[in-house]
Amino acid sequence: MLEVKQIQNGIVIDHIKSGNGLKIFNKLELNKTNSPVVLLMNVESKLLGKKDIIKIENTFDVDLNLLGLIDENISINFIKDGKVIDKKKVVVPEEVTGLVTCKNPRCITNSDDYLKPTFNLMSRENLEYKCSFCDEITKYKI
Ligand SMILES: [Zn+2]
Repeated sequence: MLEVKQIQNGIVIDHIKSGNGLKIFNKLELNKTNSPVVLLMNVESKLLGKKDIIKIENTFDVDLNLLGLIDENISINFIKDGKVIDKKKVVVPEEVTGLVTCKNPRCITNSDDYLKPTFNLMSRENLEYKCSFCDEITKYKI
């Protein structure tokens, strides 16, 4: 198995469904970070068969709502001085702002850059959210 150095300080995004790692990498814009980042793909997992893992050194800040939208199985380990100091499971967010754009072309939020709609979760299975401005239902897509 591929060996990757443990990170000393930072976060490990674990239990990513195989194939979602690269999507998360792009969504989190990790290509723009100056910190060391590792994306591991198709790692063997007891739980999932295969999984992806992302390790980011020197940061503790990730958008948990965004991760919850992409993959509900993800867990996040926070590492300090080489030890796990905290673990978090992501959940599908009940409410999101800024991550979803309204699919209604006449919605005011699509023509005004300053208006950010809040979306409320309508269906957990289908990731459907209702726009706070026009009540249109938008399905979140990765
Ligand atoms: Zn709308």
